[in-house]
Amino acid sequence: MNDDVLEGNWKQFKGNILEQWGKLTDDDLDVAAGRRDQLAGKLQERYGLAKDAAESQIEEFEARFRETTTTTAAPVCPICGIIHPQGTRCPTL
Ligand SMILES: [Zn+2]
Repeated sequence: MNDDVLEGNWKQFKGNILEQWGKLTDDDLDVAAGRRDQLAGKLQERYGLAKDAAESQIEEFEARFRETTTTTAAPVCPICGIIHPQGTRCPTL
């Protein structure tokens, strides 16, 4: 997972984004369309944030969802054929 987490899951995240940043509108999100710089611009506009602050809020948001998306997308272990919980090692190793 890289910075594309936002753009790649944009539709899924829109509701969460509106929940997180209630001052943003649907139109704002349509304009941003998953682009971080656009979203950061909207946060600066609506919340009067500095660029750095807006970007770090987006990073925190992404980090939370990166965890959930990698958890749901956890690969099946090639050794024992089950999915091990995030952050744990295969017990047969
Ligand atoms: Zn295993």
